Amino acid sequence: MKKKLPLYAKILIGMGVGLIWGILATPLGLTEFTHDWIRPFGTIFINCLKLIAVPLIIVSLIDGVSNLSDVSKLSRMGGKTIALYIGTTILAVTIGLTLVNMIDPGKYLSEDRRDYLRETFASDLDTSIVTAHSTKEQGPLQILVNIVPDNLFNSFSDNTNMLQVIFFSILFGVAMIMSPKEKVAPVKSFFDGANTVILSIVNIIMMYAPVGVFALLASLNIDLELLKALSVYSLNVVLGLAVMVFVSYPLILKAFTKVRYARFMKAVLPAQILGFSTSSSAATLPITMDCAEKNLGVSEEVSSFVLPLGATINMDGTSIHQGVSAVFIAQAFGIDLSIGQQLTILMTAVLASIGAAAVPGAGIIMLIIVLESVGLDPAGLALILAVDRPLDMLRTAVNVTGDSTIAAVIASSENEIKSEEELAAIKSKAEANQS
Ligand code: ASP
Repeated sequence: MKKKLPLYAKILIGMGVGLIWGILATPLGLTEFTHDWIRPFGTIFINCLKLIAVPLIIVSLIDGVSNLSDVSKLSRMGGKTIALYIGTTILAVTIGLTLVNMIDPGKYLSEDRRDYLRETFASDLDTSIVTAHSTKEQGPLQILVNIVPDNLFNSFSDNTNMLQVIFFSILFGVAMIMSPKEKVAPVKSFFDGANTVILSIVNIIMMYAPVGVFALLASLNIDLELLKALSVYSLNVVLGLAVMVFVSYPLILKAFTKVRYARFMKAVLPAQILGFSTSSSAATLPITMDCAEKNLGVSEEVSSFVLPLGATINMDGTSIHQGVSAVFIAQAFGIDLSIGQQLTILMTAVLASIGAAAVPGAGIIMLIIVLESVGLDPAGLALILAVDRPLDMLRTAVNVTGDSTIAAVIASSENEIKSEEELAAIKSKAEANQS
């Protein structure tokens, strides 16, 4: 029998062909064709992912939490998860700040370039500043208030209210543990069954992923000219992201788990590719969970709790980008930031990445708050808007890798992760059943 190409290989091919198309479309005069006939297939793919995200969180979180034998395990896991998320975020901003101070990309930008970039992106900037200000005007505890919904259906109907959905699902799951077993049994089996159905829907959507990824990348209109102008800055961000993925995460995995790094990377590759193509950790969430459970062997109990939370509050890639960008903009303005100011950037960037929504371009909007925290003119953002999309794609891929790393760490610490051998045995059994 001919060996079938694995799904991740098909997605990789879709990504490669899409990127080539994206670069060639403008010079070949295919922009309109791409917009009318290719882009919609990408939008359909993103819609499918968003469509399943909320039901997936509700069902899998309720199912996962209600499987816990006691509430104390949940609070232990919650404490560890949040501590690790904050720890890796601080590490990420520190890496970004260290590299940008060493490389000093601001000095490579000529005065003319700066003026040109500022003028070209002035109008995009206005909307970002308004959005950032409305976030900033809220009090410090507003984040907490926002987590608790006053109307369940409003939160279910808005994909940006992920923390509210998580809050309600945990509440529901905890209440199930606390209720008499016999009474809750039908509810439990309903969520068990619904969970299986939703995972099958995720599988169906994934079959379409190679086409969706192709369409998304093909319609990007990549502007190589601008990319070149900001190349040192972009390379600085990319280097920071690479340090996180190729140095920090392997060390974390080695210290806290038995998972081999190569196996980890192979397991999470589909989620990274989707993070890259969609620029949204939230849209990628169904696949991140699928990869963690099926490929890494993380239990559903852990993945359904750690990953939705991570998609919303843990953004290591975004944090690196914030650190590098804030200092780069200061350098481009010829301003020397003191150590105290860089510490302020560190703190604000950590909070900004927690507050940033897991959607395309969210990081750059939160960057305005970081810039203002050290008195930098937010108009400086215009310098980097041109390259934000490609950098957003990369940082989102890092964001989902970071979430998956912590899922592996928490699962290992709770003894909730299958070994390579166990996973292989499950796979060969499933294959035998199929044939
Ligand atoms: N697009 C990123 C994400 O969804 C957030 C950002 O803009 O950095 O993870």
